[in-house]
Amino acid sequence: MTKIIEDFSGADFREAVEAFRGARKIAALTGAGVSTESGIPDFRSPGGLWEKFDINEYGTIEVFYNDPPKAWKLYRAIGEALVDRTPNPSHDALAELEKSGRLEFLVTQNIDGLHQAAGSENVLEIHGSWKNLQCLFCESVRPITGEQVTGTEVPACPGCGEALKPDVVFFGESVRHMDEIMNSLRDVDVIIVAGTSAQVAPASMLPALVSEAGGKIFEFNIEETALTSGGAAFFSVFGIPSFARSDYLFKGRAGTTLPAFARAVLEE
Ligand code: NAD
Repeated sequence: MTKIIEDFSGADFREAVEAFRGARKIAALTGAGVSTESGIPDFRSPGGLWEKFDINEYGTIEVFYNDPPKAWKLYRAIGEALVDRTPNPSHDALAELEKSGRLEFLVTQNIDGLHQAAGSENVLEIHGSWKNLQCLFCESVRPITGEQVTGTEVPACPGCGEALKPDVVFFGESVRHMDEIMNSLRDVDVIIVAGTSAQVAPASMLPALVSEAGGKIFEFNIEETALTSGGAAFFSVFGIPSFARSDYLFKGRAGTTLPAFARAVLEE
């Protein structure tokens, strides 16, 4: 059973801290929940982006190819949600764990660049980054400007004149860095899984890979997820099911639980 930790002075908490301290290689997987306390709502909750934009109508790469001005309605709404946001204590705690040499690398599903803004260096953005625009035609990438977020025109590539899109993975596009992530995860013995429902594949498979190899899952979430119960099957690319279950759930807002955990790990 997952140990659900809400008391940060109890025996389960100390046990988790000691297990973390004893680990040789530690990774993290983060999702929209680590950025909600920076004022960026997740997309799925009531009032989120997918309530305003039908995910099938706007969220696919085909929309961009068929109708760039329509696709840019969604892109601008995402940009407005992300502009001028700053890291919160959960980003800071993960950056601190990396600086102290405890956390080796971080995989994020987020596109907001807030881990890097907090000082994390070894960040793999599986869904790309909102900070850049990409040209799918001549394959160039350049930083997005404020006018491109607030304007009404579809930005054109200065190189080839074709429409640009955010350097972000939409439905129907391949996720980034998967080979590197799979290789790096091989000998990880603890993975932090913070602020993600762990339901969006293939990121959802990563904790399962670690636990199948004997590693532990440390979950940080405001609620129990499919990982906490261990009842949901996670399918590998080969269709093989596994039933990953987190060892610990630190229940509460990541902006509170991650700094408290990092402090306990790093104290003398
Ligand atoms: P999700 O919406 O499926 O899950 C968010 C999780 O965060 C939930 O389990 C929720 O309980 C938890 N949560 C919410 N607030 C929290 C808090 N304060 N502390 C701890 N946990 C909290 O999100 P997802 O699994 O990351 O998948 C959604 C996809 O949408 C991602 O792949 C991502 O690319 C994209 N997205 C990115 C951003 C961003 O860049 N900030 C924001 C929204 C969505």
